[in-house]
Amino acid sequence: MEELLRQSEKLSTVGQLAAGVAHEIRNPLTTLRGFLQLQQQTNRLNLQHNDLMLSELDRINLIVSEFLILAKPQASKFEQKDIRFILGDVISLLDSEAHLCNIIFETRFTEERCVLACEENQLKQVFINVLKNAIEAMPRGGLIQIEIGRQGPQMLMVTIADEGTGMPESMMAQLGSPFFTGKEAGTGLGIMVSQRIIHMHRGTLDIRSEEGVGTTVTIMLPARDAATGDA
Ligand code: ADP
Ligand code: MG
Repeated sequence: MEELLRQSEKLSTVGQLAAGVAHEIRNPLTTLRGFLQLQQQTNRLNLQHNDLMLSELDRINLIVSEFLILAKPQASKFEQKDIRFILGDVISLLDSEAHLCNIIFETRFTEERCVLACEENQLKQVFINVLKNAIEAMPRGGLIQIEIGRQGPQMLMVTIADEGTGMPESMMAQLGSPFFTGKEAGTGLGIMVSQRIIHMHRGTLDIRSEEGVGTTVTIMLPARDAATGDA
């Protein structure tokens, strides 16, 4: 029953989203068509136009791939994994990018076993989204603190705190609405997709931010004792 309710909730959100996605994709498609038509008429390949066409194609690709995460069947490949290794992989992946931006990741993993039932790639997607937002909010570099701990015996808690631009209240109110972005090349899908993935894992994702000070994202996920299978 609960499962059915979640399914229908998900479907209606996806339905609303589909209209938004169609709209967002139509703009770069129109640009692409215009350039192709121009090339056909003038019979000349303009390299600058080519670069623009490539970036418009990349944008379509990004929107579609973020959207596809939502369309995947849920709870299909939940496996017992240790979140320290999932987050550790993502940190290694983004480490060189952070380094280039004068950003240092500081990790504090205090728990010994942090096993939960999850779809690993989806959780990776969440951590990539959150860490990329943190990096993008710190154009002059700084520290990103990443912690894994427990909130009581049942919940694992991941916090990711940056020293970036932070967000005003007016922006916080719009967070998680599809296509809401403060960036020139943003899709505005990252937080919404992350929130949905965490909800599918029966967890919560909470964002606190202070303008000019920084942002902290707190993710709670139900832990699972791999030995007994108990939550
Ligand atoms: P995108 O990153 O594609 O813009 P997101 O859904 O990931 O989409 O984020 C939406 C917006 O929220 C961002 O454009 C940014 O303005 C704001 N935001 C998100 N995370 C942070 C952060 N850590 N610090 C400051 N602003 C943030
Ligand atoms: Mg983002």
